[in-house]
Amino acid sequence: MPTYAVTGATGHLGRLVLDQLLERGVAPADVLVLARTPEKAADLAARGVQVREADYDRPETLGPALAGVDKLLLISGSEVGGRVQQHTNVVEAARNAGVSRILYTSMLRASTSTLVLAPEHKGTEEVIAASGLSYTFLRNPWYVENYTDQVATYLAQGTILHATGEGRIALGTRPELAEAAVVALLEDVEGDVVYELGGPSYSIADLAAAITEVAGRSVEAEAVSAEELTAALTAAGLDEGLVGFLVTVDRNIADGDLDNDTDDLARLLGRPVGSLADAVRAARVEAPQTV
Ligand code: NDP
Repeated sequence: MPTYAVTGATGHLGRLVLDQLLERGVAPADVLVLARTPEKAADLAARGVQVREADYDRPETLGPALAGVDKLLLISGSEVGGRVQQHTNVVEAARNAGVSRILYTSMLRASTSTLVLAPEHKGTEEVIAASGLSYTFLRNPWYVENYTDQVATYLAQGTILHATGEGRIALGTRPELAEAAVVALLEDVEGDVVYELGGPSYSIADLAAAITEVAGRSVEAEAVSAEELTAALTAAGLDEGLVGFLVTVDRNIADGDLDNDTDDLARLLGRPVGSLADAVRAARVEAPQTV
């Protein structure tokens, strides 16, 4: 049995990946969890997997962490701005350790996308491609949870303010993307593979309709200009950097950067991608009580 290593396993996606690996019958002894803070992975170690220290910023931890690894799932780091160097450290260690395949959680159409977050994913993909390692790029869509985590706020406000225009967002929840990552990790393929992941796409109006349907309380999508959204978010007390990021993402969505027309996610899952209503239901938010 090959040895699988997963980085970022103490995060949301990584934990779901580990669940899937074990549910699919991979022996815990064949799974290595790489964590920058091994103590945070104590509950994972209790499931029988081996935990090794691996900090993307500390190359000296990466060589020992990857010794004996066959396939590596590199879950992209969370420190925006420093990730190409961090991921490069992992790729170099993987090549030196003789890893047979690296799988990387990238972003939809990373090589051509104008999404504000795409350059670091494009840069990482280029580093991986130049390394000579066999690779699988898991080009993830926007997590639906980026929205469904805010259902309580939308219900309280009765509106979803947005500047996405007619833009659409490909569906995909973290559990689905984790499952797809595990299918790709376990599949026996030759050569390099690029998956553009995401199900049927939805608009913010569709999101509002799904929340209304599931919660039984009306939420409406309110389309505004980028300038109006900037003013509203600033008035709500968000800091300038976050406002700029959120408004830019909405503009990117309006430009189609998070839309997708492939069925790669459904093919990997072996079933249709869940509906938007399913994703809202999974957020398990109660409608606020009226007085
Ligand atoms: P989380 O923030 O929950 O998890 C990030 C993981 O990366 C954690 O395990 C964290 O470790 C680990 N990590 C961060 N920095 C380092 C480092 N220097 N060395 C080693 N490990 C590190 O994110 P998610 O699980 O939700 O998502 C996974 C990735 O997907 C994110 O890191 C980000 O790149 C990307 N993402 C994609 C989104 C999308 O909509 N498609 C939205 C948000 C993120 P620790 O527990 O120690 O912090």
